[in-house]
Amino acid sequence: MIEWLRSLLPFASSEMSCVKLRQLASDYLDGEMDARTLWRFRFHLERCGGCGAFVSSLRATIQTLNNLPPPAPVPVDLKERISARLPGSDSSNSSNS
Ligand SMILES: [Zn+2]
Repeated sequence: MIEWLRSLLPFASSEMSCVKLRQLASDYLDGEMDARTLWRFRFHLERCGGCGAFVSSLRATIQTLNNLPPPAPVPVDLKERISARLPGSDSSNSSNS
């Protein structure tokens, strides 16, 4: 039953993995994907709820970021100034510096 389906779908034998799909998700949303990859991407997306949710949330994130004003420049010493004001920063941040 599965075999005749595979014969109808030439790309099914090389179905994209969840990991691969998520690596390509930003290319998909940017429209920078060749037709063959796009076909396999959509083939997986229609059958995998997890990846569907992943692409939806990524698209929403990108739209949110595109709507934000450009960030103000962060002073290079800001992290040090914040750390200096935090209580107990010497012990909790010792491995982070
Ligand atoms: Zn998946």
